[in-house]
Amino acid sequence: MTPYAGGVPSDPNRTLYFDNAATTPVRPEVVAAMSPYLTEQFGNPSGSHVVARAAVRAMDEAREVIAGIIGCGPGEVIFTSGGTEADNHAITGGMPPQPGVPICTAVEHHAVLDVVKALDGKVVNVDRAGRVDLDSLKATLGDVDGAASVVSVMLANNEVGSVNDLGPVADLVEEFSTSEHAILLHTDAVQAAAWLDLRIAAARANMISISAHKLGGPKGVGALVVRAPTTIRPMILGGGQERGRRSGTPSVASIVGFAEALRAVERDRSEVNERLTHLKDRFVTGLTAAVQGANPTVEGVVTLPGTCHICFEGADSESLLLLFESVGIVASAGSSCSSGATEPSHVLSAMATPESLRQGAIRFSFGHDIAVDDIDRALSLIPDAVSRAREFFS
Ligand code: PLP
Repeated sequence: MTPYAGGVPSDPNRTLYFDNAATTPVRPEVVAAMSPYLTEQFGNPSGSHVVARAAVRAMDEAREVIAGIIGCGPGEVIFTSGGTEADNHAITGGMPPQPGVPICTAVEHHAVLDVVKALDGKVVNVDRAGRVDLDSLKATLGDVDGAASVVSVMLANNEVGSVNDLGPVADLVEEFSTSEHAILLHTDAVQAAAWLDLRIAAARANMISISAHKLGGPKGVGALVVRAPTTIRPMILGGGQERGRRSGTPSVASIVGFAEALRAVERDRSEVNERLTHLKDRFVTGLTAAVQGANPTVEGVVTLPGTCHICFEGADSESLLLLFESVGIVASAGSSCSSGATEPSHVLSAMATPESLRQGAIRFSFGHDIAVDDIDRALSLIPDAVSRAREFFS
């Protein structure tokens, strides 16, 4: 079977790729935009001659496009190798790490959570839907008594898709900041950027992480936005690129592709979000009607239009994934380590999802070009696959 990468969606021989939260296919217009910078326009933007200047222009243009869509100034965009680097940079504050106590929620991606833990920071609770518990955040800010360096709250969770309202978080950060010491608000918008207007959703964040491969762009490129007057020390030292904030020869083609992908996301956002909201609804309604013990993990709160997290009672994630794949559906358990093996989800534990549900957790994450036929085909295949997975489970 060939992977589903857009095109004619009703082709029954295509794999139904429902793992877009892991990575997305690169959009054709992104490949086209990148192509010249992989071939004739190969210049290193650090130079000053004519070949270098073409690369500089491409980067400047991409930076402007990205800044406009995120809602910041071009000078506030630092290109990185992706979301992980952006998160590490935001939490450490560069090299050496900034003094103070970093704080994050218990459901952050490991690119935030592990850095906070490595720096002896504090982890705050979330509610049953995986959103920040404001009382826990307030108590933690009080406990560290003005010593907080950064508060990191993700805009949307990568496993269950629940969306945080950053307004009340920003209010708390302000309440505990003083004229001598401003606590910074960072948001990991890696999952959210494909769906939400960051000009609004992340308007009050001092720092924002995004990654191109989650929104139809290439892997290995992303950005950390650092809004003035916040400044940050570099984490990667060397040639002084990105105005001294991130050294290393930039991948011009990837940066051009990143901008093109964001442009496409922005252009299509309202139509895609409306369509996907309906299709996700159709999927959940169909699935819960056809499969007893199929429970949507979060309900009644705002979630990303493309993310649908279901816990199947009486089955385990690994068997479910294998059986789904055997009928042409690719999804994920939501949490996997780099070896591909499933590990227990820190997100579901923090949400206090009961163990009986957690073991059969599956994340279906849809792409912007999914069609109703894809949903209906999945609905016709999943019930039998779940029954077979349940036979392995005792
Ligand atoms: N943050 C979140 C919420 C993510 O989902 C991911 C990737 O899965 C990352 C950070 C890491 O991004 P990247 O793969 O670009 O390093």
